[in-house]
Amino acid sequence: MQPHHLIGAHVSASGGIANAPLNAASIGANAFALFTKNQRRWVSKPLDEAQIALFQQNCAEANISMDAILPHDSYLINLGHPDDELLTKSREAFYDEIARCEQIGLTLLNFHPGSHLRQIDTDKCLSRISESINFALSQSTTVTAVIENTAGQGSNLGHSFEQLAQIIDGVEDKSRVGICIDTCHMFAAGYDIRSQASCLSAFDLFDKVVGNRYLKAMHLNDSKTKLNSRVDRHESLGKGEIGAEAFSTLMTLEAVKGIPLILETTDADLWAAEINWLRSLVPK
Ligand SMILES: [Zn+2]
Ligand SMILES: [Zn+2]
Repeated sequence: MQPHHLIGAHVSASGGIANAPLNAASIGANAFALFTKNQRRWVSKPLDEAQIALFQQNCAEANISMDAILPHDSYLINLGHPDDELLTKSREAFYDEIARCEQIGLTLLNFHPGSHLRQIDTDKCLSRISESINFALSQSTTVTAVIENTAGQGSNLGHSFEQLAQIIDGVEDKSRVGICIDTCHMFAAGYDIRSQASCLSAFDLFDKVVGNRYLKAMHLNDSKTKLNSRVDRHESLGKGEIGAEAFSTLMTLEAVKGIPLILETTDADLWAAEINWLRSLVPK
């Protein structure tokens, strides 16, 4: 067990959020991701106190700390929506997600930045995303908004390090904003990480353009699609276009210590083995 590396997967919370830490523990994880509500609906019923208490108890028994947990928001939310009314709806839903995290005691919320839907330009969409984050942070106190890089599919923004930096630039409270780098998305967006040298230079570039201090989490996925495909299709580690060398390089980076490293790979039956393999790659 490597205490400095928090490794897990996006586990099921079906039957209640308290099941998520049990599912994480069963695959040997000391980190996990979950949805705190149905990710395909706008409204979910509020969490009850008993469920929250059981969640916290199960996390404590599994030795999983609150900052090793990376909840993901609903897929319906578009924080850069071109339409004012729908933007407001997304902002309210996003704030509700943050409020749920605070209620549970979670410290991070992972989300996809947003899409311009070909109706507004990139700069305007990015500034809407920053303002959406400001709206949620100004009404909350403890949760850090963790922006995920995208594959750049369709009109999704946040596929380049420059765009991620631009969103952060527009956020007032820089102490509560961060980035989750998804390896499949970065590869599909055109960042080659296949060899040790290319992986190290891509992460050097991230540090220069965005800053490693903002790296709050990672999604570790291989990719079914080729470099710069702009198509988001996850694959099990080492079985896709990225290959094993990228992950063995990543596990040597100082920047991945102490942040949740979450598998969103396609075969859940392999998660326990993937976690073991990632742990074996950490330099002794
Ligand atoms: Zn992801
Ligand atoms: Zn993805």
